Amino acid sequence: MLRDMRPNRILVTAGPTREAIDPVRFLSNRSSGKMGFALAAAAVAAGQRVILVSGPVSLAAPPGARLLQVESAVEMRSVVLREAVRADVIIMAAAVADYQPLAPAAQKIKKGAATMVLRLKKTPDILAELGRRKPPGQFLVGFAAETTDLLRHARQKLISKNVDLLIANRVGRKGTGFEADDNEVVLLDRDGGVQRLPRMTKKRLARRLIARILARIQAHST
Ligand code: C5P
Repeated sequence: MLRDMRPNRILVTAGPTREAIDPVRFLSNRSSGKMGFALAAAAVAAGQRVILVSGPVSLAAPPGARLLQVESAVEMRSVVLREAVRADVIIMAAAVADYQPLAPAAQKIKKGAATMVLRLKKTPDILAELGRRKPPGQFLVGFAAETTDLLRHARQKLISKNVDLLIANRVGRKGTGFEADDNEVVLLDRDGGVQRLPRMTKKRLARRLIARILARIQAHST
């Protein structure tokens, strides 16, 4: 039987978000964007149509992917929700900030008191929202970076955010995870499957993940 070889629309998010404290300061994290950019490049190489929504990073856009740049979690949410409607696969590789300043100052905050308190509020959980809205047939992939109890936290996340595949990695080890070129992950899928992958470069891991995701959606659509 001839397979339907139409390219899938793959939406990938990458990088950190920046949450403004005032016009010149922000809260952010150590995400380099390397994993998300490698996933976008691997998906293009696999013949897919790729939209890459990225927070501020110092990486060049992978040729062939459409890059949409955002700054904050709120901005990322609105671009992702807009693009998600047409996506066959969504991979949330971005390290979205969990909190944002409650009331960013309109003017630069002046140095004065010896201590100061910054009030924060939760950012929107984009992945959880995508999980709630997921149309039939859409394949949703999340990441979980954990320092303790990796599998238990990852399994919880898989269920609570309604994702199809969760890529869990232990962070806080030298050479892998945030800012690094390598990653060492465990894959958890909906039906309880757990697969531990050896440490490898993010580029190689990206190719493996894209191949696996494409095989899964192909299997589901036949
Ligand atoms: O809950 P936690 O932040 O550990 O979940 C990680 C996953 O959720 C990642 O896929 C990340 O991109 C996504 N996320 C999100 N919106 C947030 C926080 C995390 O989409 N506000």
